[in-house]
Amino acid sequence: MPDKKKLSRLPSVDECLKSAYGEEWLEKYYRKIIVRSIRETIASKRKELLEGADPDITIDAIAADIEKNIVKHSEFKFRPLINASGVVIHTNLGRSILSDTALENIMSTARSYSNLEYEIAKGKRGKRYAHIRDILVELTEAEDAVVVNNNAAAVLICLDTFAKDREVIVSRGELVEIGGSFRIPEVMKSSGALLREVGTTNKTHLLDYENAVCGNTGLLLKVHQSNYKISGFTQEVPVPDLVKVGKEFRIPVVSDLGSGCMISLMPYGVHDEPTVQEVIKEGADLVTFSGDKLLGGPQAGIIVGRKKLVQKIQKNPMMRAMRIDKMTFAALEATLMQYHDEEKALKNIPTLRMLTESGDIIKKRAKKIFNALKKSVSDKAVLEVQPDQSRAGGGSLPEADFPTFVVSIRPQNMTVNALEKNLRLGDPPVIARIKEDELLIDARTVQDREVKTLIGCIASAFEINKI
Ligand SMILES: *Cc1c(COP(=O)(O)O)cnc(C)c1O
Repeated sequence: MPDKKKLSRLPSVDECLKSAYGEEWLEKYYRKIIVRSIRETIASKRKELLEGADPDITIDAIAADIEKNIVKHSEFKFRPLINASGVVIHTNLGRSILSDTALENIMSTARSYSNLEYEIAKGKRGKRYAHIRDILVELTEAEDAVVVNNNAAAVLICLDTFAKDREVIVSRGELVEIGGSFRIPEVMKSSGALLREVGTTNKTHLLDYENAVCGNTGLLLKVHQSNYKISGFTQEVPVPDLVKVGKEFRIPVVSDLGSGCMISLMPYGVHDEPTVQEVIKEGADLVTFSGDKLLGGPQAGIIVGRKKLVQKIQKNPMMRAMRIDKMTFAALEATLMQYHDEEKALKNIPTLRMLTESGDIIKKRAKKIFNALKKSVSDKAVLEVQPDQSRAGGGSLPEADFPTFVVSIRPQNMTVNALEKNLRLGDPPVIARIKEDELLIDARTVQDREVKTLIGCIASAFEINKI
């Protein structure tokens, strides 16, 4: 039987607020969150009593529970975490992390008013895209450039501008799904363009394109396969050949590059990834790519190519719905600026640094993590530094596996799944990967400044028994 007397002795919200704890909370947290947390805690104590338990219900006894709830509700839902997965461009984990220069530029331009759409020299209204256009043109050697919200938007606005109710010729081998809901055939449908598939899954010939061209062809579209690879008996039509067909029939050739590589990563084991400059040189009329994949900047969709075409895109009313905000401009311009010195770009743009970092440096970081862990958890786990493979990920570089070094943690007093979950639910969360009975901490994607925090997270993941 529930203890009615005890039920009536449960403290009220007001009593909790007026207690010494309440006063302290009110100084640090939002009143609404405190009240909600008190209500939740009292309700849970009432439930325990009704179920026949006999919890201590003095304010002193429940204050810790209330505070736990307050802290939980006061946390941002969108927050940083440690990526120990080894996947450098991880779409679920925010793709690229920004360079210090990009972050500083966001800070300085967003905390002040800016010349976002203002021409300082003339003292009058200016164009939003003027700032970014020149540097994109300089770096890619295209005639003109514009930027939209993401690469999906870039593809969509190209289709809408040049191929509404007209046919777009695409190879069957390139009708890709990039993840989430970005599938070329569906994007095509929603843009009002008509998909004209040519070739087969593994082979498409120049003649397939030539035969498909008709009076109603709006575009020739080439889509980078990004996240998969066809191997074996295959053939695709290279951009220069498509350009010939495009020229002959006066149809623009659009190349959706996806990852948007601007520095050749061949010396680092990333093959088959054409750079934006190469594709422009090969004659593609428009090239679209993401800002936050291999470029290593903020989310954005960059369109570079022929002036006449880019200007037509800019006149499309859809542009207004796809425009990027000032923080994106700040991050993108600062990221692009670093491409003036390739060596520095590879060092200072985190995505490029992580992809090209030498085994020695990664091993050193793994050793550092290993040594610190040996001190704190060696009685609870078997630890080892091992060579392994990390992935580029993020709908780019399907084939690229990079040799890396991981710290392997083989827990002794809990399952590897429990350890993984505790780490994931920690603060900050740590995302690691499981390989059989080992938890792998990939040193490639752990930032140097995160190492100390990571050690603490791993140590506490061993202490709590959340499962
Ligand atoms: C990633 C990718 C996209 C989508 O780009 P978002 O920036 O995610 O919108 C489109 N096409 C290709 C080929 C891609 O790789």
